[in-house]
Amino acid sequence: MTPTAGNTCDVIIIGGGAAGLMCALTAGRRGLRVRVVEHANRVGKKILMSGGGRCNFTNTGTSPANFLSANPHFCKSALARYTPWHFIDMVERHRIAYHEKELGQLFCDVSSKLIVKMLVDECTDADVHIETSCSIEQVHHDDDGSSHGNFRLKTTRGTLRAPKLVVASGGLSIPSMGATGFGYDLARRFGHDVLPTRAGLVPLTLSGKHQERMADLSGVSLPVTASCNGQSFSNAMLVTHRGISGPAILQISSYWQPGDDLRLDLLPGEDALEWLQHQQAERPAAELKTVLGEVLPKRFAQRLCEVWLPGNPAHRPMRQFNLPQLRELAQVIESWPLVASGTEGYRTAEVTLGGVDTNGLSSSTMESRHVPGLYFIGEVVDVTGWLGGYNFQWAWASGHAAGLAV
Ligand SMILES: Cc1cc2nc3c(=O)[nH]c(=O)nc-3n(C[C@H](O)[C@H](O)[C@H](O)COP(=O)(O)OP(=O)(O)OC[C@H]3O[C@@H](n4cnc5c(N)ncnc54)[C@H](O)[C@@H]3O)c2cc1C
Repeated sequence: MTPTAGNTCDVIIIGGGAAGLMCALTAGRRGLRVRVVEHANRVGKKILMSGGGRCNFTNTGTSPANFLSANPHFCKSALARYTPWHFIDMVERHRIAYHEKELGQLFCDVSSKLIVKMLVDECTDADVHIETSCSIEQVHHDDDGSSHGNFRLKTTRGTLRAPKLVVASGGLSIPSMGATGFGYDLARRFGHDVLPTRAGLVPLTLSGKHQERMADLSGVSLPVTASCNGQSFSNAMLVTHRGISGPAILQISSYWQPGDDLRLDLLPGEDALEWLQHQQAERPAAELKTVLGEVLPKRFAQRLCEVWLPGNPAHRPMRQFNLPQLRELAQVIESWPLVASGTEGYRTAEVTLGGVDTNGLSSSTMESRHVPGLYFIGEVVDVTGWLGGYNFQWAWASGHAAGLAV
């Protein structure tokens, strides 16, 4: 249905992404008249591109510890009331086949399209009206003095009115997919603080000599433990043309800011000194680069010796290292300092850190403390998950909380 002047409903939701659709179907099931206003030509574009086209739709190990926020307690209530198992129930009801990849990450067997179809079908069943290719020109709030303010949206397809307005417009990542700062601007207009935003779950870039040393290793991948600011992630690192990526690096990127000390353990799970001593005892004649090349990609091991290990010891037999020298090698191998110059930014980031300050929102309903009837959900809020299905779980949980409250 196309909105006409003065078209009234119970709830308007700005943004037909993960959080907006979950909120819409939850409110619609309660019998409310719900409109979703989406400026792109279709809903759920980020769901479609997620998880390499197979949507990592949740993580069975989700806990508040998997999220970054200025207030780490804020996400607890919504996550406790809508768990991964609630979403899995819906996925199973729709007979969508899925599998666990690693670390509790659930992916569709076939395609992300099935998750979008499921959400749209649920919205259709709940009589939700979704307007795509519909841009918002103005948002008015007529404060009539009652506890229920009235929202009026002037859109390219007419005017909409509702006593409740839910902002689910997402973050700034992947501008080519329709990401905008709309939600942040609206929040500020209604008196909310917006915490500084930056790209998260994003490849890191190297520059100058750091990039020169690594550029020709592009494509090399190895397991590492990446550590920064008291947080560590063990997973793969991938060398790229511009810097480094891979799950361990994407994860740590959310904790890193320019100038911060970033360390990589190149022998995760091993004590590097013990390992070197063992190699020395077992194979005294073997060259260091040969020994390292058996646990690290060969080209990487060679470069490590040439550039980062003291005295370019690539061709030295293991027996020639004394204990202090082995200690020096171990120190570099298990705490390799990598100087990143920046990130690839919103163009490739999976998420936006920061956003609408949770101090201005109710953690149980997502409603604004400043403007009754106004809600913020999903990525626009200052709650950001780790890589691995946590961001969708936050979108589902916060969307569900608001959908029950509106
Ligand atoms: C490449 C990529 C892969 C990802 N893979 C995963 C994954 O596998 N698992 C996971 O958990 N997370 C993943 N994420 C993160 C996840 O997609 C987001 O955290 C999640 O989509 C946030 O949900 P949201 O509803 O808040 O925002 P979005 O899903 O971004 O939805 C916001 C919607 O609002 C619309 N909108 C914006 N401004 C306006 C406006 N002014 N008017 C109308 N509509 C507007 C947008 O077009 C969009 O449809 C991935 C992200 C990217 C970029």
